[in-house]
Amino acid sequence: MRSPVEARVDLGAIAGNVALLRERAGGAAVMAMVKAEAYGHGLVPAARAALAGGATWLGVARVAEGLALRSAGVAGAPVLVVLSVPGEPYAEAVAAGLDLTVGAPWMIDELRAAVVAAGRPARVHLKADTGMSRGGTGPAEWPALVDAALAAEAAGVLRVVGVMSHFACADEPGHPSIARQVAAFTEMTELAEKAGARFEVRHLANSAAALTLPEARFDLVRPGIAVYGLTPVPALGTFGLRPAMTLTAETALVKRVPAGSGVSYGHTYVTERATTLAVVPAGYGDGVPRHGSNTLEILAAGRRRRIAGRVCMDQFVIDLGDDDLAAGAEVTLFGPGDHGEPTAQEWAETLGTISYEIVTRVGARVPRVYTGLPTVEGAADG
Ligand SMILES: *Cc1c(COP(=O)(O)O)cnc(C)c1O
Repeated sequence: MRSPVEARVDLGAIAGNVALLRERAGGAAVMAMVKAEAYGHGLVPAARAALAGGATWLGVARVAEGLALRSAGVAGAPVLVVLSVPGEPYAEAVAAGLDLTVGAPWMIDELRAAVVAAGRPARVHLKADTGMSRGGTGPAEWPALVDAALAAEAAGVLRVVGVMSHFACADEPGHPSIARQVAAFTEMTELAEKAGARFEVRHLANSAAALTLPEARFDLVRPGIAVYGLTPVPALGTFGLRPAMTLTAETALVKRVPAGSGVSYGHTYVTERATTLAVVPAGYGDGVPRHGSNTLEILAAGRRRRIAGRVCMDQFVIDLGDDDLAAGAEVTLFGPGDHGEPTAQEWAETLGTISYEIVTRVGARVPRVYTGLPTVEGAADG
């Protein structure tokens, strides 16, 4: 169905970004992180584009996301689920060939029952907490987790495929925690190997580390934000990545108003002189942050315009001054910047957040329209 707001997703940019990441990763394989609907870009099309660009693994945050990839026919690549809770459909996950992350002993107990139903061992990656204090098992409990996993492997419950950890501060090059985490990961991996683990892949690097830390690549890197063309380290520039998403809208109406007109809820913007306003049908229901009221800029009628007044659920207003725009004319909220529109990175800076949040929060009611990779359908499978 036709929508007045669209998120155009350039699949060629996604494939190109993955190719760039692969080149930068040296010999390491690339796991494209496609969690949260591929950071808002659309799970299945983005996954296929990433595979077309040379990713050989996919990563998701939820069992349900992994199952969605499999039921869409994305079958050729291993898919790792990095986060799960007790009671999820593990039998289904194992039967669908999803790799699972084991960061705590309860997971091994869950898998014992699941693999009986699935009829084959689970493929698991052991998650070490090397200093982020979020997921995974820390150094004190690590030997016990490794022993439990190896015992379960010997019993045919699971196969220990990988070992992994995650950086807390890789986007701040030189942060002292980075070297400490690399050292802890190396130690914890070696300890597990001495205990008998035979890892196919050891992996630690997110986008920032994949692009800036050769010593953190190990066998596999796990970029997310860079796949979508947004820089993981804004202070170091774009790394040659190309933003994949452009958010556009068609204006609903354009009208003259007199000086002194209060605009939108709360009248936080008042026109200084007679001026032309345009109503843009995109609001926080579409992922335009309300926090961007009176601050975010968009590209309209060839120029940057600041949002005038509050962002509403379904719309906001811009002040065109004496410029004109036809009702129905397209405006660009953010994109790669080719035509002077802001980037998601610029919106993030204006709002005091990160580009991840800008693209990921684009609402479910905004259709994703795909361009740039016409042969992608089915090309990545098999
Ligand atoms: C999301 C995620 C990544 C990707 O992080 P980026 O900063 O987007 O590159 C990597 N590894 C894990 C475990 C993740 O959850």
